[in-house]
Amino acid sequence: MDTFLHWLMLAVAIGVGWVLGYTAKKKSSAGSDPALPSNLKDRLKLLFEAYSEEVIDSFVQSLEVTSETVGMHLSIGSHFRKNGEVEKAILVHQNLMSRPEVPSNFTDEVMFELAKDYMAAGLLDRAESLFLRLQESRSFSRKSYKWLVDIYQQERDWDKAIEYGVPFNGQKGVDISVALSHFSCELAEKLIERHHYWDARNKLRDALRFDKCCARATLLLAKIHMSEGHYSEAVLILRKVDEQDYRFVPEAIPLLLECSQHLKSESKFRCYLEGLLVKKSSSSVMLGIADSYNRELGVLAAEKFLVSSLLEKSSLKGLDRLIDYQSVKAVSDSDTRHLTIIKQVTQSLLDGKPVYRCEGCGFSGEILHWQCPSCKEWGLVAPIQGVEGE
Ligand SMILES: [Zn+2]
Repeated sequence: MDTFLHWLMLAVAIGVGWVLGYTAKKKSSAGSDPALPSNLKDRLKLLFEAYSEEVIDSFVQSLEVTSETVGMHLSIGSHFRKNGEVEKAILVHQNLMSRPEVPSNFTDEVMFELAKDYMAAGLLDRAESLFLRLQESRSFSRKSYKWLVDIYQQERDWDKAIEYGVPFNGQKGVDISVALSHFSCELAEKLIERHHYWDARNKLRDALRFDKCCARATLLLAKIHMSEGHYSEAVLILRKVDEQDYRFVPEAIPLLLECSQHLKSESKFRCYLEGLLVKKSSSSVMLGIADSYNRELGVLAAEKFLVSSLLEKSSLKGLDRLIDYQSVKAVSDSDTRHLTIIKQVTQSLLDGKPVYRCEGCGFSGEILHWQCPSCKEWGLVAPIQGVEGE
């Protein structure tokens, strides 16, 4: 019975295919758009919804490749890819690629669809070679840029990602300036590792040309100056971070502190941080000021500042630091014991807590990723705000 039903379904599917082909032929001979007509797409949708995968497979194998059915094959291939059946999609599109009877006006579209199948299958080399061939295509050259940039990002070939990203960025409605600036920063970081500071600086200037708000480029530029012993220049550069992107000020504070220690300019460092705190509350800035008071004027001044700040803005990190200051002042064993207990509580609340979160997908972690490992967007992972964060 099962076999009978299967053959019956197959016969019906082939019948549907014939009707679809006939409709396509009629449309085509009427001089309409060679692309698949929308009502035909609806009927194909019906086919996909009404029949089993097995029947659809048999239908695809039985469907002849003619100028009238190419659109149908393309739609079926695309359906397979969207359903995660990439191998089947590849077979459909490879079959079309090998057929000389496919009209020339479909050649590029077939190649484009096959390249997308290869991308979905993770066959980046094959996808790259097809997208590069499509650079000659009038209709698909522009569409291929996006995919080539994607491939070169995955391969971490930043030079090529920039080469194809720049013309893609110039297209109407496309803005990948932030990504381009990070591609340049990636190149700069490699150069910094090899102490090629001159070339690294040029890449960072490129990064800032792509996106003048790229705090990462500024932080890297400052690090280059610091490794060359130019601390005053580094301070001037680091002071730009808050104007570029305040979210990354906590990344600049340890560098500013290091510079101030070399320059013996503790009060200037603290004065700058106090100016920042007036602009916007931040736990890192608050702690930076408190620790600076502690170093220069002692624990009482640090405690006084921290208490008044915590009254204005609740901060778990601030409370934790206040306990440290209180512990220094503790006179009795009983005070020390009580503070140790409270410290254990604040530490357990802070330990293992993510420090950074992606504003795009919510991914969180303890390391700053300039490209989100989850959604792959650039510049969206930033220090977490709120009582437990900044
Ligand atoms: Zn993300």
